[in-house]
Amino acid sequence: MQNAKLAAKTHPQHRTVVDLGNGTTVGGKDLLIVGGPCTVESWEQMVAVADGLEAAPVQGIRGGVYKPRTSPYAFQGLGLEGLEILARLRSHSGLPMVTEVMAVDQIEAVAAKADMLQVGSRNMQNFDLLKALGQVDKPVLLKRGLAATVEEFVMAAEYILSHGNQRVVLCERGIRSFDPYTRNVLDLGAVVALKQITHLPVIVDPSHAAGKRELVPDLARGAIAVGADGLIIECHPVPDASVSDARQALSLEDMVDLVHSLNPIAAAVGRQIAPHRQLALA
Ligand code: PEP
Ligand code: MN
Repeated sequence: MQNAKLAAKTHPQHRTVVDLGNGTTVGGKDLLIVGGPCTVESWEQMVAVADGLEAAPVQGIRGGVYKPRTSPYAFQGLGLEGLEILARLRSHSGLPMVTEVMAVDQIEAVAAKADMLQVGSRNMQNFDLLKALGQVDKPVLLKRGLAATVEEFVMAAEYILSHGNQRVVLCERGIRSFDPYTRNVLDLGAVVALKQITHLPVIVDPSHAAGKRELVPDLARGAIAVGADGLIIECHPVPDASVSDARQALSLEDMVDLVHSLNPIAAAVGRQIAPHRQLALA
């Protein structure tokens, strides 16, 4: 990791706390829990998500509007219409919105509406995208590539940092292996390693790792136990009706129960789940 000049820890206590706006942070004592569907489908769907998750609570809402789909014939996302839904939901819920940006020419529109810009697994080494995100004044959630080594992951973060954006959050979302029983293999060892070698916050996406909803809660609890700074989890008002990733989507009720179950684990590792906090809306 010789070249990770900016991502590497300079001393054992070196930690970066990333601010998503109005006191919502990740990397400090407060965990960042983000919930929401794989894909933004409608205003009604998203308002049900935000209202249903208020009891958890979550500190951010996710929903893809530009979707990297394996098949070009699958739904590709609502695009600009989806961004409008996220902007409206931001005012309705007071929560930060997290959504994926797939291409350099989408950055301006996404950065204008969302609070955190996700780089998906398939784009972890899209170096032009990473360089462009280095010039954006919004935090970036960088997901680990499907088969990226820890070093490649850290160096992808280094691209964003070295182009000027210091608000980078890493996300372990499972790596490809031989066994199709789980969609991917959740690499908690990498989470521990990343926390040791970098000062950046590290969150975990157990949904894309597991691919099966019944595996998600235990993996989420395991992630917090090993020191992850937060979670991003797919959930939907009618999970089986999700236009994408239905098999891994939790119900909103199960998501609320999951967040409640994290409290004792968070306390055991010196962390806490922040109370519901409204963004200051412009
Ligand atoms: C997603 O978050 O919906 C997604 C496509 O994730 P990943 O890039 O990790 O596959
Ligand atoms: Mn998904």
